[in-house]
Parts: sequence; C-alpha cells; structure tokens
Amino acid sequence: MDFDLTEEQRALRDSIHEFARRELNDDVVERDKSGTFSREAWQKCADMGLLGLPVPEEHGGAGADALTTIVALEALGRACTDNGLIFSVNAQMWACETPIVRFGTEEQKRRWLPGLCDGSLIAAHGMSEPGSGSDAFSLGTTARRDGDGYVLDGSKTFVTNAPESDLFVVFATIDKELGFAGVTAFLVEQGTPGLTVGKPLSKMGLRTSPMGELFFEGCEVPVENVLGKPGQGMLVFDSSMSWERSCILASTVGGMERQLERSLAYARERRQFGQPIGSFQAVSHRLVDMKLRLDTARLLLYRLGWLLDRGEPATLESALVKLYLSECYVRSSLDALQVHGGYGYMTEYELERDVRDAIGSRLYSGTSELQYEVAAKNLGL
Ligand SMILES: Cc1cc2nc3c(=O)[nH]c(=O)nc-3n(C[C@H](O)[C@H](O)[C@H](O)COP(=O)(O)OP(=O)(O)OC[C@H]3O[C@@H](n4cnc5c(N)ncnc54)[C@H](O)[C@@H]3O)c2cc1C
Repeated sequence: MDFDLTEEQRALRDSIHEFARRELNDDVVERDKSGTFSREAWQKCADMGLLGLPVPEEHGGAGADALTTIVALEALGRACTDNGLIFSVNAQMWACETPIVRFGTEEQKRRWLPGLCDGSLIAAHGMSEPGSGSDAFSLGTTARRDGDGYVLDGSKTFVTNAPESDLFVVFATIDKELGFAGVTAFLVEQGTPGLTVGKPLSKMGLRTSPMGELFFEGCEVPVENVLGKPGQGMLVFDSSMSWERSCILASTVGGMERQLERSLAYARERRQFGQPIGSFQAVSHRLVDMKLRLDTARLLLYRLGWLLDRGEPATLESALVKLYLSECYVRSSLDALQVHGGYGYMTEYELERDVRDAIGSRLYSGTSELQYEVAAKNLGL
C-alpha cells in the first residue's frame, strides 16, 4: 500500500495552495455580507486551470485523473477561504462539464467545453423543483416534442450559478407516464425565448455563490440540444451525481486542515487561568477529534479517488464520502468556533462563516439522509 502522492500531484497541490492563498481571499467577509459573486476570482481559477481539471485536454481541460483532481481541490479548500467560490466551481465542474464530457455529442463538446474551462462561460444544473427535491425524478417540468425541437414548461429552484450562467443543464420529462424513463436532459442557452432566470436567492451560507430559479414558458429548445438520448436523463443525472458526490467535498478536507491549524495555534497562544487553553483537556480533546476527522475523511476520499481511477464501481464509497465529509465538516467548523470562544462567533474571525457554509454540504448533492439510504441499499438492506 502506497500513501505517497506522485511528484506531479505534490507540485500541483503546492502551486494551487500558493495561488489560492495569494489571489482568492480578498474581501470575502464583505462579499459574504452582500452576497456577491466574484467574476474576477472565477477567472483567476480558470486561468489556473481549475475549471477544466477533469475535462480532456482536447476540449480545453487538464485531463486530470480523479485522485489528482481531488488533491487539487483539497489544496484549493485549504488556502481559499471563499467557500462559495469553491462551491460554484465544483457545481459547474461536476454537474455541467462532466455530463457534457460523458454524454455530449462532438458538436456539443466543441461548442461548450472550451469556454467552460477558460472561464468565459458559466453553467448551472437545474434539477430540483418546488415539488421535487430528494425525489428528483418525480419532477414536473415537461418537454413536448414540436417539429425540430422540444417545448419546455415548468420551473427549477435552488439552481447554483443560475444568475451568472450562460448555459443550463436542465431536466424535464417527455412523458410523465413513463416515470423516470421519460426524464431527459437538455442544454438550454441563456437568452432562449421562454426562459426566465429569477432574482438571486438569498441563503444562510455559501453566500458568494449565486443561486436562482428558472422559469420555462413555451421555451423552444432545438433537438440538437438534447444531452444524451431522449429518456436517458436519469443516466445523465446519476452519472453527474456520482462524480459530484465523490469530489464536491474534497475542498472541505482542505478546509478542515485550515481550521485545525488555526485552532491549534490559538489553543497554544490564548491563555486563561494562567495557562494556554490547549492545556485543558476539554480543549485538547476537541482538537484531537478535529485531527481524527480530518485524517479519516482524507483516507476515505483518497481511497475513493483510487477506486474511480481504476474504473471500479464505487456507489457505496461515494455515498459514504459525501455523508462522512459533510458531517465532519459541520462538526469541525463548530469545534473551531468553540475553541476560539466569543472571538469565534465574531464575523471578522471568519469562523462563523465556515459554520454557515458547512451546513449546506449536508443538503446539496443529496442530503445526508439520502446518502444513508444509498449506503444502506448498497449493503443489501
Ligand atoms: C447550497 C445548495 C445548493 C444547491 N444547488 C442545486 C443546484 O445547483 N441544482 C439543483 O437542481 N438543486 C440544487 N440544490 C437543491 C438540493 O439538491 C436539494 O435541496 C436536495 O436535493 C433536497 O431537496 P429538498 O430541499 O427539496 O428537500 P426534501 O427532499 O423535501 O427533504 C426534506 C427533508 O426530508 C428528508 N428526506 C426526504 N426524502 C427522504 C427519504 N427517502 N429518507 C429519509 N429522509 C428523507 C431530507 O433528507 C430532508 O431532511 C441545492 C441546495 C443547496 C442547499
């Protein structure tokens, strides 16, 4: 068993860490307050090659394998404190680029992937609806065949990146009677008549990541914009979700390392009752728990990357990673805040923001409860 990263992986990790520390942390407190997405930081991520990490080189990406991508995203999370930006990058990478890579026609790939990798385009993934969340395939948006295309009617909610997006990967049913077998994926361009992007939604955390609703009213989409085949939407969605569940939280492992380093330094330096607070067992044990969560989360994540690169089925492992990393991240964020006492509760310490951001991870890409369901099913229950 070899736990070493390759020289290239280590070099990539170090360069991303240095880049993120230097370039991505300006004004995060203010942008969090106002709920402002930074297009400038987005472009810097694109220029650094982050947006195209898993996209093949021929389409403008880096063609990185799963483990390398995970290591890169972990480094990003360790040094970049703008969790919303990281979330937006991930949402595009896993729920928009990956399905186009896997299911897109040559024309669709040529048309969209280079711009998504170089930062000139932003994409969003619209599955959730007011009436269908965890039960995603019970969606109500319809796609009626009409001449050379489809006419979409319905709405989507909680769509990350929507207010800034040029392209939407959208799911609709071509025949409700068919159940999940009627669900079909479409590529819908911003500006298509009949598509309205609603006002940005305000949320508890990840506030620098834009989110909005989509409304379709007689929205005509040409047949060339079907992603995959009609009726293959479940396959497209499951494939993106399995990548998303596997990799979207890689940056939280970096985030947990950052929280631990800060908390250790504070526990050594802050004195109460004449001694460093780290000498109190209640504090030191909390720090040990943070370290234990960090190491176990990283091991689970790297094992999953290794399995994915071997092309092995990893449904159980990706559900476990999504579940475990999100729960660890929430707890680690709370622990870091607690170790810092009242200062941890203050906005300028940038620890309370992590708590708000972390809670979202239990909800997006399938809630923790749903990951338990997937894992239980894969254990034969
Ligand atoms: C920050 C953030 C970003 C998001 N980005 C996107 C996006 O880009 N695109 C998109 O389409 N959606 C997005 N979503 C929506 C997300 O996918 C849904 O919120 C999620 O699937 C849950 O659906 P719901 O909110 O309707 O909750 P519901 O499905 O109504 O669930 C409510 C509660 O019931 C529980 N529950 C439901 N079914 C079961 C069950 N079978 N067993 C046990 N418990 C169950 C849930 O776990 C939850 O606790 C985002 C959400 C968040 C918070």
